[in-house]
Amino acid sequence: MQSFDVVIAGGGMVGLALACGLQGSGLRIAIVEEHPPTEAFSANNEHALRVSAINAASERLLAYLGVWQHILEMRVSPYQGMEVWDQDNFGRIQFNAAENGLTHLGHIIENDVIRQALWQRAESLPDVTIFTPSSFKNVAWGENEAFITLSDGNMLTSRLVIGADGAHSWLRQHADIPLTFWDYEHHALVATIRTEEPHEGVARQVFHGDGILAFLPLSDPHLCSIVWSLPVESAQQCKNMPAELFNQQLSATFDMRLGHSELISSRQTIPLVGRYARNFAAHRLALLGDAAHTIHPLAGQGVNLGLMDVAELIGELKRLHRQGKDIGQYLYLGRFERRRKHSAAVMLAGMQGFRQLFDGNNPAKRLLRGVGLSLAEHLPGIKPQLLRHAMGLNDLPDWLSQSSLIEKI
Ligand SMILES: Cc1cc2nc3c(=O)[nH]c(=O)nc-3n(C[C@H](O)[C@H](O)[C@H](O)COP(=O)(O)OP(=O)(O)OC[C@H]3O[C@@H](n4cnc5c(N)ncnc54)[C@H](O)[C@@H]3O)c2cc1C
Repeated sequence: MQSFDVVIAGGGMVGLALACGLQGSGLRIAIVEEHPPTEAFSANNEHALRVSAINAASERLLAYLGVWQHILEMRVSPYQGMEVWDQDNFGRIQFNAAENGLTHLGHIIENDVIRQALWQRAESLPDVTIFTPSSFKNVAWGENEAFITLSDGNMLTSRLVIGADGAHSWLRQHADIPLTFWDYEHHALVATIRTEEPHEGVARQVFHGDGILAFLPLSDPHLCSIVWSLPVESAQQCKNMPAELFNQQLSATFDMRLGHSELISSRQTIPLVGRYARNFAAHRLALLGDAAHTIHPLAGQGVNLGLMDVAELIGELKRLHRQGKDIGQYLYLGRFERRRKHSAAVMLAGMQGFRQLFDGNNPAKRLLRGVGLSLAEHLPGIKPQLLRHAMGLNDLPDWLSQSSLIEKI
């Protein structure tokens, strides 16, 4: 039986970030991960299909964790502009970093790059032990600690167990935490695209009646990663149609904004489901990232939200531990739970509102969204607020926004 203070189920971006953030706090940490990273990153590799728009708040956390420089050295694409428009009307809004005195609005980064940087960092930390390939087989919730049996036969005890094991979280289910979920009835089609014209570091998104299409700029000026949210049947058709036809449909849907678009990768589709766990904490348990919530990718905020769960919990666990409190007592996890449930609920509600407003061709809705986008573009004071939200600056816990370890972004 090995004894830890915090055992984390899931060594994805979120679970690893928590482990790295607790280093040096005096807590002993373990990560249990089913699938360790397989291939070391090489700049010669093709771009992976799964990428994330990482906002300024997440950048700040990753810098605090000591992995940002490594991520930059692997492969990232900073973007200086964002542009959103509605194909069916005059509505359009755009954001520009320079106009706001910023060097960039965010970065598009392959998920594998972030995970690899965090994994290597976690491996090097003396307070962190990684069990892999391994998974949770059983957990018994004792009064003073949890007793964990792993699939590799190891047995662990821990004062706090963290569910960072993704959308289908075994821990969430094992702890009988109810889940509210709704099927967006869309699949996201992801692929890498070569564009005729350079993207110029602008992330673009078009709403087009029954779908949402984003072109996210990659490090090559003519490459973009697309996320195309479509009704299930259309997504499957787009996935399976001949590449030439796909290219035509894609270019037309994107209003030829970057000229002709050409598919240069395989196509993958991912079902889109909104999820919100009834509790983000329980006796000796906390849920983080996709294990606690999943949202529509239209605003590219899923892992940003998860990383802010991590930031909040790092602050709380360090404070509780310094005060000599039992970090696994539900009573003490209440503040973390309240704050993060609030942030996730606001984000989920926002995405739902957007989805409904931009879904379909009802003339009243078309008018409303055209007017809405134009007002947001032209009325003073609105764009800076929207930008702060997109950059995650309203969601930073105090300790991180005041952290003197890193430059202000
Ligand atoms: C199409 C699409 C586009 C997106 N774009 C963006 C974006 O631009 N910006 C953004 O912020 N977010 C985006 N997201 C959301 C983002 O991808 C997720 O929020 C993020 O990957 C969740 O990370 P996680 O670490 O919580 O979970 P996961 O990445 O799912 O990691 C969970 C880990 O747990 C492991 N695991 C699972 N079960 C067990 C077990 N029982 N025992 C041990 N280990 C286990 C898994 O192997 C995995 O490594 C997007 C999502 C989609 C679908």
